[in-house]
Amino acid sequence: MRRALRSTKIKKIVKRTPGNRLTIHFRKPKPNYAHCGICGKKIVRARLRASEIRKLPKVQRRPERPFPELCPKCMREKIKAMIRAVVKI
Ligand SMILES: [Zn+2]
Repeated sequence: MRRALRSTKIKKIVKRTPGNRLTIHFRKPKPNYAHCGICGKKIVRARLRASEIRKLPKVQRRPERPFPELCPKCMREKIKAMIRAVVKI
């Protein structure tokens, strides 16, 4: 077994081949949750690899609102702060 495949994060599945032999198949772990850029809270989004996300339609890749990298709460705070900064000038 390759050194990289000995990690406990990789799931090992024993499969029986058509030739009646047992082989080990490896399942890569799911990628981590997306996190908010300001508060670090988890963002509810599909936990997919970049290659799998590329296959989805654009509307399913990220939320359809400004600042998709932030959680909704931080997005609201950021927009309020931006508007306040403009009003002061
Ligand atoms: Zn946040």
